Amino acid sequence: MFKLSARSQANLQNVHPKMIRVINRALEISDVDFMAIEGVRTLHRQHQLYGQGRTPAELRKVGVKPDLSRPELPVVTWTLRSKHFVDPRTGYGHAVDLLPAPYDWKDPRPFNQLADAMFAASIELGIPIRWGADWDRDGKPRERGETDSPHFELVDE
Ligand SMILES: [Zn+2]
Repeated sequence: MFKLSARSQANLQNVHPKMIRVINRALEISDVDFMAIEGVRTLHRQHQLYGQGRTPAELRKVGVKPDLSRPELPVVTWTLRSKHFVDPRTGYGHAVDLLPAPYDWKDPRPFNQLADAMFAASIELGIPIRWGADWDRDGKPRERGETDSPHFELVDE
């Protein structure tokens, strides 16, 4: 039985209470400990992330400042919209990034165990979620090379 660390709690500020409930329950039933590394994200931070793996010209085309270009880094996001932004309808962010502890980017197993606990909690509480390793929610992780294993978000009802 694991509990949210103080740092994780701080990273979850202004995240939707439904997502917090899922995370807290998942920690109680999870085989692996995990932490919350990111909750609410600003537009500037999303632009910074979008700059990774893209050229100044590509950024200019979509209205992102070209000086945020870091073409030498791998692409980490495909969108300028994000569930990490505060949703004006609810006043909360609807997405979180979670990392198992310990973790190794080359080993998907602890990420899968974390996801198992998140989905079990989601079903138990009746709060639907989507996982960044299974965007179409068909239960087959990484079938299209999805790489956002830390990402979970609330599904809009
Ligand atoms: Zn995320």
